[in-house]
Amino acid sequence: MPRFRAGPFLISSNPQRLDTLSLVIRKLLRSLARFAPGHAHGRGHARGHDPKVHKASRIGIDRRLVSSGAIRTVEGLQQAGYKAFVVGGAVRDLMLGLRPKDFDVATDATPEDVQHIFRRARIIGKRFRLVHVLFGPETIEVSTFRAAAGDDHETDAHGRVLRDNTFGEQHEDAARRDLSINALYYDPLSDTVLDYHHGVEDLQSRRIRIIGQPERRYREDPVRMLRVVRFAAKLQFDLEAKTTEPIADLADLIQNVPQARLFDEMIKLLQSGQAFSGLQQLRRYGLHHGCLPLVDMVLEPEGSEDEKQQSLAFVKLALERTDQRVQQGKPISVGFLFASLLWCPVYRHWKKLEAQGMKSVPALHEAIDQVIDQQLDRLSIQKRVVADLREIWLLQPRFEKRNGQAPFRLLSHLRFRAGYDFLLLREAVGQAPEGLGAWWTEFLEAEGEEHRAQLVQRTNTRQASSSSPRPRRRRRSKPAAQGDGLVLSEGGTES
Ligand code: ATP
Ligand code: MG
Repeated sequence: MPRFRAGPFLISSNPQRLDTLSLVIRKLLRSLARFAPGHAHGRGHARGHDPKVHKASRIGIDRRLVSSGAIRTVEGLQQAGYKAFVVGGAVRDLMLGLRPKDFDVATDATPEDVQHIFRRARIIGKRFRLVHVLFGPETIEVSTFRAAAGDDHETDAHGRVLRDNTFGEQHEDAARRDLSINALYYDPLSDTVLDYHHGVEDLQSRRIRIIGQPERRYREDPVRMLRVVRFAAKLQFDLEAKTTEPIADLADLIQNVPQARLFDEMIKLLQSGQAFSGLQQLRRYGLHHGCLPLVDMVLEPEGSEDEKQQSLAFVKLALERTDQRVQQGKPISVGFLFASLLWCPVYRHWKKLEAQGMKSVPALHEAIDQVIDQQLDRLSIQKRVVADLREIWLLQPRFEKRNGQAPFRLLSHLRFRAGYDFLLLREAVGQAPEGLGAWWTEFLEAEGEEHRAQLVQRTNTRQASSSSPRPRRRRRSKPAAQGDGLVLSEGGTES
């Protein structure tokens, strides 16, 4: 470990030692301050220092919804003499009667202390050091109380805090959290909730309120503006006026935030169960411009008036279905989500190239390449997700081939289900021959190969007779995987 001498002191450049040292010094200074003249009760009385204590079961928290891992973590830490609480989103969800998806624990033990207490625990993160405590498949994230961002924090030119890793007291940890409803400390063993910033009251009156001075908090971390909007949409809470007031002026600060972080936040918004209203709220507060080019593109699509309407209808429907899945607790595929958001420009290019005489499948390939090239350098979408959405799109023309073995081959495709769900969306906004989705539903639900074969045969016979005015051309057989985008005569599939 690199060390250097400064004057008579030996200073370690190891950040964890410095953090621990700073915690010890702060504690020492604080206990000395208790004996200072004029110190009334041995505790600070500044706003936010003394929490309001609630009985958890009286404010709607059901301990049975707390995971055993979270309880064992709190118990282990408390038995070793430390403070330990369930914090953050889990307490908020518990108060709303929801089963939290994961549990975070905050403590005054350092990461090293935590690691010593639990058999399966590992320290993660370089700058913001946390401990993952493992119980079977469950991971509990344990963080040491952090100090609020002070004037001594390293910031960029706009006030964005670049390092936020100094250990602190519990009330400081509460003050550095974003929203009052996210700053509750729940102790499942004593059935108490410590509330430093009126979070319980805000939860009960369904209000989103940022802690501290809003402008300063947004400058420290502009992502908080997105979080405010996300939680308001997700929980369907009202936004406190003071909380939203500076957002219009500060919205541009979002552009200084690393794209990867914005992308993560975007995914959370899209999976919040209120995705469309979340995007609309972003627009309402002017946060969509430059936040992610994708949001502009989704909410302000290009093209003729009809195309714009169709794009909006498509995205709205796709997000509504996503919301339904989230609300039913079903998993969401990020590939499918982005396939939906980016589809309309692909469709527009595709149809334009076709109108210019290009064959359907090569036209689709080219349209996809164009849109991905334009969007990809601006979006930090993982390669795996891009491969996924490309596949969903490329399956689309194959759904229109319903002769011979083609439907059977498509059915056994690994991404069939996603492609089929996507087809249903397209059909609903008039982008696919009417009845095509119903045909595939019947094919999918038919019992056994024999029924399926009968359905294919029936369809082919009907198609042949409905296109009878034209002399029959000899069919070239092509592999289904390439497809030729052949659009079946409309109505040819009605049963
Ligand atoms: P969910 O995980 O359901 O989206 P959450 O509130 O748990 O919601 P996380 O991103 O997991 O959100 O963060 C955990 C906690 O850390 C938050 O509840 C909040 O107290 C704090 N926090 C997270 N991000 C910020 C931020 N940008 N500024 C201040 N505090 C934050
Ligand atoms: Mg969380």
